[in-house]
Amino acid sequence: MKKILIGTHNGGKFKEIASLVSKKFRKISPVRFKIRSPKETGKTFKSNSKLKANFFSKFVNFPVISDDSGLCIKSLNNAPGVYSARLAKKKGSFNNAMKYILKKLNNKKNRSAFFVCSLTYKSENNKVINVQGKIYGTISKKILGKNGFGYDPIFIPNSYNETFGQMKKIKKMKIDHRYLAFKKLKKKINI
Ligand code: IMP
Repeated sequence: MKKILIGTHNGGKFKEIASLVSKKFRKISPVRFKIRSPKETGKTFKSNSKLKANFFSKFVNFPVISDDSGLCIKSLNNAPGVYSARLAKKKGSFNNAMKYILKKLNNKKNRSAFFVCSLTYKSENNKVINVQGKIYGTISKKILGKNGFGYDPIFIPNSYNETFGQMKKIKKMKIDHRYLAFKKLKKKINI
């Protein structure tokens, strides 16, 4: 059976990406090789996504898929953006980071936001493909729902009236930024 390394230590992301990759691949986690994630030194989602795929591919002789993603909030100049994970770390938890965001948006009229996913596939022959997916929505007034991960409980995608955190996992996984990026990747390679 073909193998693919899903280059992330984030359990939520791993599950989402693994469920998108076809059944013909055995999905391997970097945890199995005791590989840590590299430092995200890039300033863009794309550069960090490529940096991760390049890093992980050094350890295996089969394809690697990595993503860099985050939440961009318009009235906060697209913050936390590439620093989404780091904001949660700085604040001690995602719950604290979400509370912080809600407080910051308290007096703001514009609550529009989007999630971005920059996805990089690197083949065993070092062929690199990068694609991007975005989903637009708004930031809720409260932390709502226990499903999903990260900032899911404060993001309401456009055309829906519930947060990603309230949505059934399977429903979210069929509309979100990772899914949209993956759809583009599928047009380029058989994965
Ligand atoms: P990184 O790509 O590992 O730097 O992490 C991106 C951060 O954005 C993570 O900490 C996630 O919690 C957050 N994030 C990315 N995608 C999603 C999502 O689909 N739902 C909620 N949070 C997300």
